[in-house]
Amino acid sequence: MNEQRAYLAKIKEENARFAAAHGHERLACTRTYGCQQNENDTERIRGMLEEAGFAFTDDENKAELVIYNTCAVRENAEQRVLGRLGLLKTIKAERPDMIIGVCGCMVQQEHIAERIKKVHNHVDLIFGTHALYRMPKLLYEAMRSKKAVVDIENSDGEIAEDIPTKRDNRFQAWVSVMFGCNNFCSYCVVPYVRGRERSRRSADIIAEIKRLAADGCTEISLLGQNVNSYGKDLDENIDFADLLRMVNEIEGVKRIRFMTSHPKDLSDKLIDAMAECDKFCRQLHLPFQAGNDRVLKQMNRGYTKAEYLDKIRRVKEKIPDIFLSTDVIVGFPTETNEEFEDTLDVLREVEFDHIFSFIYSRREGTPAAKLDFVLTDEEIHRNFNRLLEVQNEISKRKNEEYLGRVEEVLAEGVSPKDSTVLSGRCASSKIVNFKGGEELIGKYVKVKITEAMTWSLNGELAE
Ligand code: SF4
Repeated sequence: MNEQRAYLAKIKEENARFAAAHGHERLACTRTYGCQQNENDTERIRGMLEEAGFAFTDDENKAELVIYNTCAVRENAEQRVLGRLGLLKTIKAERPDMIIGVCGCMVQQEHIAERIKKVHNHVDLIFGTHALYRMPKLLYEAMRSKKAVVDIENSDGEIAEDIPTKRDNRFQAWVSVMFGCNNFCSYCVVPYVRGRERSRRSADIIAEIKRLAADGCTEISLLGQNVNSYGKDLDENIDFADLLRMVNEIEGVKRIRFMTSHPKDLSDKLIDAMAECDKFCRQLHLPFQAGNDRVLKQMNRGYTKAEYLDKIRRVKEKIPDIFLSTDVIVGFPTETNEEFEDTLDVLREVEFDHIFSFIYSRREGTPAAKLDFVLTDEEIHRNFNRLLEVQNEISKRKNEEYLGRVEEVLAEGVSPKDSTVLSGRCASSKIVNFKGGEELIGKYVKVKITEAMTWSLNGELAE
């Protein structure tokens, strides 16, 4: 980062000259697609831009710099980015000094980076997930070059520490503990675009969380594609259960969450740590993806339906009030209607509080992309709707269990629909809406639950 900081200083000098000449700071607009890891990466991009003297806007029309941080997991997210790039062409025609950058998982795929270079030649800067920390140098070059600056080199093994980070939320933070994934699920592009698993050293993670806690941040979410593999690549003798216990000791931290876990790697040691750490929010996101053993095998998930259910049983035994969520894919190429029934079985047996359900999206370069579909689009959509029907009934029923309870809620923000209503989450992760003033944002308040909907709870301040 020392080399990169020198570039940030150079850009800052240029930005100061720009501000003196134009009477306003150079404005940057960032947009994030995809998962929490991408959100976390954008916080770093914004941290670097802030250090380089940029101010921020949400409006591309006003921005001197636009950066889209993209996702490759589903096709529709890619199409949205390509559509927006088309719109930017018109804006750039009127303001040719504008710099347009595209980064993240989508452009880490060589064929997409090539396509953007050819079809969207108004894009000035393309950099992949491995080049994130090199953004200052790349941006400095893009500000000078007439040609697109491209860096999608794979630098597996490297982790850049001390990247400046701009978090808009001062009381909650995502902290990456590891990057990449070694699992190669047959439908997933993540191992190709984010590389192999790399864990951060525990001392760096703990130092970051201590700094956050000292600044008033009370809720920490530990982040990785598969946090259960944490530490396997380090020369330290540590695993994720040990790390969780270390974070639990940090003064000022009140709540700890983590995501995502892989069922095959969820150990009894971790379940014990979850049960024993008093700051751990009783919440587990454990993607099962499909309920049928043949489909799971073809997905290369590394567990059977019975093994998954056994892990859930062990978690519930140790932590009976756990909030459970999962990811489900409907319409995996070779899945039949009969096999899909096993997915519904898992939903009914586990009774998740919440699910994230997706229709399979074909990803070029993955083994599943070569498989033929058994079901028609119509059948896949019908199964998807059945899945939602089954889950909605379960989610509503699970939410009704909260009626009359008083929950401690961290007030996170004002509801977009009503400025007198605040929204937050209780320790288990249920979303709770209640009447309250903005002065409560960032505080923990007691809320009595008065109404249960399918996806959230309503309540009133209890004190
Ligand atoms: S565990 Fe599987 S689905 Fe999750 S990121 Fe890794 S390869 Fe993708």
